[in-house]
Amino acid sequence: MRPPIPNSQAQQALPINPRRGRRFGISELLAAVGSQPPKGYIQWHTWAEVQHNAGLRQSRCAHCGKWKYPQEMSALEETHKGTTRKHGGTVIITKHKVCNECAANGGAKASGA
Ligand SMILES: [Zn+2]
Repeated sequence: MRPPIPNSQAQQALPINPRRGRRFGISELLAAVGSQPPKGYIQWHTWAEVQHNAGLRQSRCAHCGKWKYPQEMSALEETHKGTTRKHGGTVIITKHKVCNECAANGGAKASGA
């Protein structure tokens, strides 16, 4: 005689994901909002869906150009200096955040300004 699978009872208690019409998987529940991304491909997509549903939106890293969620961005900023062709050549300085990976690799640089 096999004992009943304890996991099935636990899965009955899991909330239903309204977008998918089925119960949340355990990896979706483990993917906390604002946490760092997991390594695996499928795990990353599950994690990203949780972040997106929580209202977080990606922005581009100023250094590598990859799209990252806010918790993946460092405090470092890259500054870029540009000059307008019209309006008398007004100098514009923009600041953009750099992701954690680029910041750890020393990728952040202050160019222009
Ligand atoms: Zn980057």
